[in-house]
Amino acid sequence: MLDKHIESLTSLLGPNGVKFGSDLAAYDQGFDASNLLAGLAALPRDTHQVSEILGYCSAAGLSIVPQGGRTGLSGAAGSSAGQLIVMMQAMAQIVAIDTVSQTVLVEAGCTLEALETAVRAHGLTCGIDLGARGTATIGGMIATNAGGQEAFRFGPMRQRVLGLEVVLSDGRVLNDLTQVIKANGGYDVKQLFIGSEGTLGLITRACLRLAPYEGEAVTAFVAAESLDGAIHLFRRLEARTQGRLLRAEVMNAHHVQLSVKDHGEAALGTFAGDKDCVIFEHTDAAMLEEELGRALEDRLIADALLCKNEKERAAVWKIREDWAVDRAYPKGLWFDISVPLSSLGRYVEELAARLRSYNPAFHLFFIGHMGDGNLHVTVNADHPITDQYKPVTKLVYEGLKEIGGFFSAEHGIGVEKREALLAESDPVRLALMQDIKRLLDPKGIMNPDKVLQVRD
Ligand SMILES: Cc1cc2nc3c(=O)[nH]c(=O)nc-3n(C[C@H](O)[C@H](O)[C@H](O)COP(=O)(O)OP(=O)(O)OC[C@H]3O[C@@H](n4cnc5c(N)ncnc54)[C@H](O)[C@@H]3O)c2cc1C
Repeated sequence: MLDKHIESLTSLLGPNGVKFGSDLAAYDQGFDASNLLAGLAALPRDTHQVSEILGYCSAAGLSIVPQGGRTGLSGAAGSSAGQLIVMMQAMAQIVAIDTVSQTVLVEAGCTLEALETAVRAHGLTCGIDLGARGTATIGGMIATNAGGQEAFRFGPMRQRVLGLEVVLSDGRVLNDLTQVIKANGGYDVKQLFIGSEGTLGLITRACLRLAPYEGEAVTAFVAAESLDGAIHLFRRLEARTQGRLLRAEVMNAHHVQLSVKDHGEAALGTFAGDKDCVIFEHTDAAMLEEELGRALEDRLIADALLCKNEKERAAVWKIREDWAVDRAYPKGLWFDISVPLSSLGRYVEELAARLRSYNPAFHLFFIGHMGDGNLHVTVNADHPITDQYKPVTKLVYEGLKEIGGFFSAEHGIGVEKREALLAESDPVRLALMQDIKRLLDPKGIMNPDKVLQVRD
């Protein structure tokens, strides 16, 4: 079968459009070890080719795994033998930037960094940013409804998308590339594909909203008296400075101490002490300094450090973006949850207490996008604890629904949160999801067994 698929796909895409064997093995597998296991990949150059690939796969019963930058963190781009990977990197064109409407039409394989660089030249920004910016693609970000560091200002990807072009599982092309904010045409079908993790269709092009670029930011590293105090300061900065607060990233004290030790940044470790810390980025240095002074007087925060140059800024961001915790304690457990800001401080205290009483040898680390209450929680120990997934998940999710939070924030369901989706979701919502999957992918060829396991 493999030879037949290679021959058929080569006739559709030409020899450079099909990769297998050592050619495919030379690609970076990305974040998940199973990403390239299919051993066969197609690299379409335009929407027509994507349509031909899907038409062929539908007829041949060959299932596909769409892939962008392979930076996803939930195993949603994993593949296995007998499947076809569809890599979107050859569709990376920025088709048109409309500076008056403040929109961009872009192909799905364009990376976030390339798009941000292009729109910045026009004084605009995508209004979304994440650590994997250099590799993550617009298609992958739409498919996972990525959030990141600016979601508290502009929302996650769902709120950036105005229009989409999607190839359906039978090869038909859905063209819904509107470029306006108001477009009421009955059911907003394109929304189904945002966050669907490649299980309903393959996104080929998107029209995104842009925003005026606010200019260079100054960075403050703040040691919090309490999470509630830091949130109070966040709201003050937001209220007073109307859109000029760009980032508010939180890290617990354990995360800060472990990272600074790993990086040899003793001075930052002494500064942070036993406090949870927040990175604030703001475009008005004087205003930020003034508000930090007021917050110190009001004892909302314990201390604050304004970065004087790029070297200091990079050292502070390295604490947030480096993976020192996972290097120090491999095979821990990760969670990506949303907590309403009014409950964040109490939730973290109670989770720490629950974990302590379950097993005092377990460590609790978290980092997060404080502005929208998204915490990336890591629980680990001096030894691997992957066998503790079920009881620890119960402790992390306990009470979350009751306070209006959610078990899955921005990384998607993939394979890692499939069980949690079943346990945490409203049954009617789950049944509707199954119906939608059957309707849009009747042969079950689109990224099978990701998000949902649909059985007849
Ligand atoms: C260092 C680091 C930092 C990160 N920070 C954040 C963060 O702050 N916020 C956040 O939300 N995420 C973050 N992530 C996760 C990741 O970057 C996002 O999930 C991103 O959206 C994935 O994009 P990708 O192009 O790499 O997609 P991939 O990993 O290739 O694929 C992810 C999913 O999208 C599907 N897919 C990909 N392209 C398409 C397409 N064209 N059509 C249909 N389906 C498609 C795949 O099948 C898969 O289900 C981070 C990851 C890393 C490694």
